[in-house]
Amino acid sequence: MVKDSKNVGRATPAILRSQSSKTTERAVVMASNIENIPRELLVEILSRIAESSFTDIHNAKLSCKYFHEAAEDTHVYRHMSLDDFSLVPWNPLSEKQQAFLTKCKECQNPEIMYRQGVLDYFTGKRPESALSHLQRALNANHIGALYVTCIILLFSGDDELKADGVRLMAEMKKSKYVRRKLKEHREKLKNMLRLMWVENPALRHRPVCCTRQDNHRRKRGWVDIIDDEEDVHCEGCSADCEIRFLADSLPQW
Ligand SMILES: [Zn+2]
Repeated sequence: MVKDSKNVGRATPAILRSQSSKTTERAVVMASNIENIPRELLVEILSRIAESSFTDIHNAKLSCKYFHEAAEDTHVYRHMSLDDFSLVPWNPLSEKQQAFLTKCKECQNPEIMYRQGVLDYFTGKRPESALSHLQRALNANHIGALYVTCIILLFSGDDELKADGVRLMAEMKKSKYVRRKLKEHREKLKNMLRLMWVENPALRHRPVCCTRQDNHRRKRGWVDIIDDEEDVHCEGCSADCEIRFLADSLPQW
């Protein structure tokens, strides 16, 4: 009796036993279904997950060995979201985190290239390296990299390059999709700038892009205008809005 009472709570009730065997069966069926998914398709699915969340892809990797194996593919690392990693970590990175970021670099993850470009340019330490990193991110159509490239051209101090920046910025804003993405990238950049010492001397001279003398400017605030490009009729004014936004985002200046 004592022996039996000790086992109360340990023995699996019949209903749960049948549930548990059903769960095992389902897991086996699922595993064999996953095995049947073509590897390229699985890698593509995992890339989409990686793109939206590092935590989700990490959990997916832990869920089964096929996911784990496929998630190690270069393509997945190239699409990996780095939103959970600070641009400038407050604490030293663990060996595991360091290895993860190194693999992202090796796989030419555009976000990591973009971040390096931003750091190199805004700290003013390695402007040449900034351009090469941004170019690599641009090759993967990274909208943030295109935006920062425009900013670099606008602040270059060279009239021709500035004009290129104005044109490129206007070209980029023609697409509604890009404008929506740009809004996110602007805010992300602002947050990144808060974390670093912005010391590039090129940023001390605020350029002016609109040279029109007629009274074409809208009376609305520039913050509204920056979000609603349909209200900006002049490419120069549009670039000036971006310059003003950036200048106001620079924490130390
Ligand atoms: Zn104008």
